[in-house]
Amino acid sequence: MVFPDEAAFQAYLQDVKEFLWQEIDPLVPQIEHDALIPFEQLRPKFRDHHLFDCLVPEAYGGLGLNTVQYAAVLKELAKIHGGIRAMLHVHNSSVHLIETGRPEQQARYLPAMATGDLLVCFGLTEPDSGSGLDSNCTAVRKGDAYILNGRKHLITNAREADLFAIFCFTSNPAQSPERQFSVLLVERGMPGFTITSMAHTMGCSGASHDLLTFDDIAVPVENVLGQEGMGPEQLLAFLEVSRVFIAVAALGTAERSLELSLAWAKQRVTFGKPIASRQAVQGYLAEMATDIYALRHMILDALRKYDAGQRIAAESSMCKLFGLEAVGRVTDKALLVHGGLGYLKSSRIEMLYRDARLNWLEEGTPTIHKLIIARALLQEEFETVGRDGELI
Ligand SMILES: Cc1cc2nc3c(=O)[nH]c(=O)nc-3n(C[C@H](O)[C@H](O)[C@H](O)COP(=O)(O)OP(=O)(O)OC[C@H]3O[C@@H](n4cnc5c(N)ncnc54)[C@H](O)[C@@H]3O)c2cc1C
Repeated sequence: MVFPDEAAFQAYLQDVKEFLWQEIDPLVPQIEHDALIPFEQLRPKFRDHHLFDCLVPEAYGGLGLNTVQYAAVLKELAKIHGGIRAMLHVHNSSVHLIETGRPEQQARYLPAMATGDLLVCFGLTEPDSGSGLDSNCTAVRKGDAYILNGRKHLITNAREADLFAIFCFTSNPAQSPERQFSVLLVERGMPGFTITSMAHTMGCSGASHDLLTFDDIAVPVENVLGQEGMGPEQLLAFLEVSRVFIAVAALGTAERSLELSLAWAKQRVTFGKPIASRQAVQGYLAEMATDIYALRHMILDALRKYDAGQRIAAESSMCKLFGLEAVGRVTDKALLVHGGLGYLKSSRIEMLYRDARLNWLEEGTPTIHKLIIARALLQEEFETVGRDGELI
């Protein structure tokens, strides 16, 4: 075992925190100014501090953290910088997707993902249709390859990634007219594959979120992740837990906003008294802390269930939905506590406020999560009352 006991894991977490606060935090103003994360400069440091291999199983050279342990790392990343958090989140969540591959695919990709030599991203969202089963991306079998056509956009890490897990409809007209939802592994540099930069984002600056165009790309048949037609279950396998990770990011942003607000409220004096002594400001702080407390415990419950092998479809969407609403409220109030100075680009609250807004969109809008939760309730897949004699 990489971490034989809790003390060893805590020592690792402490190392990550020291690295992030001592070496990454000072880079944040420059990253924000340039809207660019210097990935090649950071790649060896991220490797040294095990930020690429948190979720890679030990058998493939990773730390093999459970999701509760990983959440502690991800939360710290969100406190420091949303762009770096988004970049590492997509890579780390993609581990769960690649794990749905055949054994030889796992053996080929997971060790390189663990070292960060192979950065992976996933492509679901499209400019010309809705996400997932509404996909317009098609791949038709011709000999030993699938000929892939279509477009994906807003794909995080597209600038840096080497491997692109693309959700699309595959078909083999020689055998059947039916289409199957599948994942194809597209490699950078395949003929017919172009990556076009998109505009800078509101927050989570410096990561790339680009347009992918597939123009008659011949993707070898062995690059089907797992088996043809596994797309729907692969989507569930990684999004179900990845959406809780978005809630974890929301928690990190919210916690940092509260920490800064508490410090500022004690420091800022108006009419001869710190604003922390005013009931109205105390109200903001109390509401922020209440949202954070609720979110933290929802996440813990969902991830503990996941680590115990349970399905968490409803819990995952509840965490994501509550998380995006909570971080919205918390960053609104943090801005109010900071007053006009909070609105300046020099203020971290200004950055956290913008970072939080990406949580609203990543891996599904609120509408989608309400649909998933309602479906689970109506199909009685989620218990709406606590078990007898237990609070939860
Ligand atoms: C910075 C950034 C990074 C991203 N990274 C990735 C990535 O790495 N990979 C990836 O695949 N995607 C990525 N995305 C895309 C993101 O997941 C989507 O933007 C998000 O899921 C919303 O989809 P959409 O943009 O197509 O919005 P739309 O589908 O156009 O939705 C617009 C509005 O209409 C509503 N709506 C749409 N369809 C329906 C419906 N059927 N019923 C009711 N309401 C509906 C939505 O809820 C929303 O409010 C990223 C986005 C951003 C901004």
